[in-house]
Amino acid sequence: MRRFFEHVPLELWRSYHWQVQNRIRTKEELERYIRLTEEEIKGIELTKGLYPMAITPYYLSLIDPDDPRDPIRLQAIPRAVEVDERVQSLGDPDPFREEGEVPGLTHRYPDRVLFTLTTFCAVYCRHCMRKRIFQEGERARTKEEIDRFLDYVRQHEEVRDVLISGGEPLSVSEEKLEYLLSNLRKIPHVEIVRFGTRLPVLAPQRFFDDRFLDLLEKYSPIWVNTHFNHPKEITEEAEEAIDRLLRRGVPVNNQTVLLKGVNDRPEVMLELFRRLLRIKVRPVYLFHCDPVKGALHFRTSLQKGIEIMEYLRGKISGMGIPTYAVDLPGGKGKVPISPNYILKAEGNTFLFRSPLDGTVEYVIEDAQIL
Ligand code: SF4
Repeated sequence: MRRFFEHVPLELWRSYHWQVQNRIRTKEELERYIRLTEEEIKGIELTKGLYPMAITPYYLSLIDPDDPRDPIRLQAIPRAVEVDERVQSLGDPDPFREEGEVPGLTHRYPDRVLFTLTTFCAVYCRHCMRKRIFQEGERARTKEEIDRFLDYVRQHEEVRDVLISGGEPLSVSEEKLEYLLSNLRKIPHVEIVRFGTRLPVLAPQRFFDDRFLDLLEKYSPIWVNTHFNHPKEITEEAEEAIDRLLRRGVPVNNQTVLLKGVNDRPEVMLELFRRLLRIKVRPVYLFHCDPVKGALHFRTSLQKGIEIMEYLRGKISGMGIPTYAVDLPGGKGKVPISPNYILKAEGNTFLFRSPLDGTVEYVIEDAQIL
């Protein structure tokens, strides 16, 4: 479906560069397609220069213009609540203390590093945990900055896993990407490279380009972590993008963020995870929404997440149930959260609550008498 853009030739519609060049960036442009609510009009005005707006024609086409609570709309169009005094007075622009000595580099866990390659995004998601970087303008790391990062990785032999993120890391030029990947591949202790990319969701056309896919295939093993939040985002185009990545030997995992009004209903999550499995994407994490300045209005209670996890168990195979986790502020790591199934524990005897029905007593024999 190409709502609003039926007149655009298919060849252009399927071009990533066309999608990026024709992003909707102003209230006037957006009003050509959607009747904006008061809250959105104010939101676009008030967030100018702070949390900019950009929406690809593709992502815009997924919005139902008659539904002000459309889940795509809530993720893409600014609302005044983002700059509300209460929302702004709480939260932290950088809750995970990502900014370190080498620009763009975070070394939180011993075996892996995170590198933010650019501040550019195809769409500026309103719930983004790195909203703070929107204000820096659209800028990819320079060759000198990439060299500093590479030097750091060379000097830290404990680093096996490099996560490249952003912004949107797969938006940089093929030349820059090749420079980064070819140099990373020359470092013997780097085993895998992962990209945290939302392009399969926001502009899947990026993966319709064989030359670009050649590049990813050439520097295998490369993994993709993407970020589908709602079943509406799983379109034919998204499916094609995933299929093309998989055929090039790039596994795709998903991280969903629990967002109030977008996906905080158990049936919506179940549908999302079912559809992800159907397109061969493994839902790995369901993250509780982080305490990020300007995005607090998307936060639900923790109980809501537990309720969703409870609902999923027994309705979809374990492969389709992600780990629900809270990322602790201050860079203290991710904590998995699960409903409690142990009602009583006495010695080796446990009373479990069944996810299907009732309770079950479960005895673990003492290893010494076996
Ligand atoms: S694509 Fe990712 S980094 Fe960019 S705004 Fe969306 S969530 Fe944030």
